[in-house]
Formats: sequence, C-alpha cells, structure tokens
Amino acid sequence: MPQPCLKVNEIFYSLQGEGPHTGMPAVFLRLAGCSMNCPFCDTKYAAQTGKEMTNEEIAAELEKYPCRNVIITGGEPTEQNFAPLARLLKNRGWCIHMESNGAQDADVSDIDFLVISPKKYVSANMLKKAHAIKIVIGQDTDLDDLQKYFQYAKEKTVVCLQPESNKQENIDLCVKIIKQNPFLRLSLQTHKMANIR
Ligand code: SF4
Repeated sequence: MPQPCLKVNEIFYSLQGEGPHTGMPAVFLRLAGCSMNCPFCDTKYAAQTGKEMTNEEIAAELEKYPCRNVIITGGEPTEQNFAPLARLLKNRGWCIHMESNGAQDADVSDIDFLVISPKKYVSANMLKKAHAIKIVIGQDTDLDDLQKYFQYAKEKTVVCLQPESNKQENIDLCVKIIKQNPFLRLSLQTHKMANIR
C-alpha cells in the first residue's frame, strides 16, 4: 500500500516571527500550494510545486532539529491531507501549530494551536476552532467588515491585527483600531524587521 504523501516546499528551523507565539523556536513545515490567489500574497510557496514526501520522511526531517514545536504552514496546508501527519507527530510528542486561511473546514483535532488568517472567504467552523485569528490590515481593508471577528476575542480567542507588509501607514491604522477596541492585539512580522531566518 503506498505511503501517504504531502507536497513540501521547505522545512527549516527558526523562530515564530508573528502572532501570539512571536519568539517561539519551531521547525517550519511549508506545504506547497494555495488556490486563494490574494493580490498581496508575500509567499512564493502558494505555487503548486513542491517535493513529494511521505509522512515518515517529513517526520524524519523534522526530527533532525533540537525542538519539538512544529508550525505547519504554506501555501495553504488544508488543501492537502495533513491530518495523518498531524496524528503521527502528535503520537511522537510534537506540539503542533498550524497557520491556515480557514477557507475550508478541516479536521484539526490533533492541532494544538490553530491560527486562522481569513482572506476572501472563511469557514465559520474554522473560526470557531481557532485559537487565534490574525487579520491582515491594509489601507483598503473594509473596517466595518472587520467587526464580525470581534466576537471571537470575547470568547478567549486571540484576535490580532497584522499590518500588511509592515508598512508604517498600516501599522498606524492597526494601532488606532486596537486603541478603540482594546481586546485586540498587534502582530508585527518581526522576522522581517529583524532579518531572522
Ligand atoms: S491565502 Fe495566504 S498563501 Fe494563499 S494566496 Fe492568500 S496570502 Fe498567499
């Protein structure tokens, strides 16, 4: 029987640069492919190309590093069948974080910390399962539409605003919104600011 495979863009060891776990060391597993096609997408990993690896090969690669936090990201990880890998890693003692656009409802039962960054559309179920919601804010963001996420902050989900591309005008806008809605948090892409890789 063929081993389950995932398309992988890269695996590397670094620090989480953004969101509620900024500064946490983790092994990043970037899966290939994202069909959302956002105009501001800053990752070449949205492309469908990647290296086919079995779950065992991925686990072996992750285990080369002295850390047992993994961040499964992309691209968009829920566009691939990541759940068997998550189960395998969970059974081996990994703390599993995942970053997703939340567009499709997925089995995240083995994910310890799920960050949803909504784009053009998002599944209401995924928002309910999220531990954090990270919203990218630019000058053309519909600020009225943003309010639909505020209810989750009141249910103990961390809701953070992240200035698009770390631009100062977007940082200023985030700070203004957060001061008016003090249950929100700011997420900066510190890895870009500090050139961490
Ligand atoms: S959802 Fe994320 S990875 Fe996909 S196209 Fe949009 S910004 Fe890029």
